[in-house]
Amino acid sequence: MSNRYWSPLVHRLTPYVPGEQPKLPHLIKLNTNENPYGPSLKVLEAIQAELSDALRLYPDPNVERLKQAIADYYRITPAQVFVGNGSDEVLAFVFQGLFQHPAPLLFPDITYSFYPVYCGLYSIDYQTVPLAEDFTLRVADYQQPNGGIIFANPNAPTGCLLPLDDLEWLLSHHSDSAVVVDEAYIDFGGETAIALVDRYPNLLVVQTLSKSRSLAGLRVGFAVGHPELIEALERVKNSFNSYPLDRLAIAGAIAAFDDRDHFEQTCQTVIASRETVRAGLRELGFKVLPSAANFLFAHHPRYDAGELAGALRQKSIIVRHFRQPRIEHFLRITVGHPEQNAALLAALSEILESRGWSA
Ligand SMILES: *Cc1c(COP(=O)(O)O)cnc(C)c1O
Repeated sequence: MSNRYWSPLVHRLTPYVPGEQPKLPHLIKLNTNENPYGPSLKVLEAIQAELSDALRLYPDPNVERLKQAIADYYRITPAQVFVGNGSDEVLAFVFQGLFQHPAPLLFPDITYSFYPVYCGLYSIDYQTVPLAEDFTLRVADYQQPNGGIIFANPNAPTGCLLPLDDLEWLLSHHSDSAVVVDEAYIDFGGETAIALVDRYPNLLVVQTLSKSRSLAGLRVGFAVGHPELIEALERVKNSFNSYPLDRLAIAGAIAAFDDRDHFEQTCQTVIASRETVRAGLRELGFKVLPSAANFLFAHHPRYDAGELAGALRQKSIIVRHFRQPRIEHFLRITVGHPEQNAALLAALSEILESRGWSA
């Protein structure tokens, strides 16, 4: 499709395609890494309390109370915190504010597929760096002039975790580049790099409340880094939208950081379930990558991943399959609650049996 009123850039864009959000209520939805457990009741109460005449007023453009809550949680200062409408928006500001340089941006060949989309939107030159055969990231492979480095940790869609020592090596060998770590899944088994921001002025850590805090529908993400990196994001944001976070989102997000117990319990439950699903998949003959996230990346040596995803869908279970070199044999399966996980394993067992597989 094209139209003569479009700006030239629009003709060239290849937008990101998010995982399907089906309208059918009975589907078991294991395709977009949402949390199977609802948010804290304190979050719902805080949002309800905000439903008042106050909605006629604009929210705080600087979102100071939320920045303070995040700063308190991570023992940093509010000047080291940026907040946005989901981490996808925060990332968009990062690409525009920190990565538009003459040298190419570097990121892994297999990672969050939104990164090349932002490069297209902001005309950023980029180069992908292949992950190792086992899908781990080798920091030594990034030794080339660059205008910044970004990757997800744990990586998506693989779930693989880069140790903080390796990140430190990267930070110290690229002191002229902004190094951005997208920690969308860090709470499910990794250690956040936020503790390193005081020592590395080139480090920016991006996180979201969508996964570990069960608030994908509220749209809140944030970044932590040196105040001057944060200032770049503030400048871009204040040239775009003064109020990316509405009053309800601000109130809910603050409450989410206040309720540590709910957060820690849901993360522990998801982690335990992940290991149960992992064991179940292996019993069915799948090879499963180690995961520090709320999803598993698995392939079966004898069956086509696209075909398996289709067969699961016939049984009302949806998982994610990427038709992309190197990973087209894999399925990305979000960890659900125990009944969903059991249904997934039972369905896969039936599908494999009907195709002649036996343990
Ligand atoms: C889910 C996800 C995001 C986006 O999260 P939102 O805050 O919901 O926009 C960013 N990065 C990665 C790697 C993700 O998986």
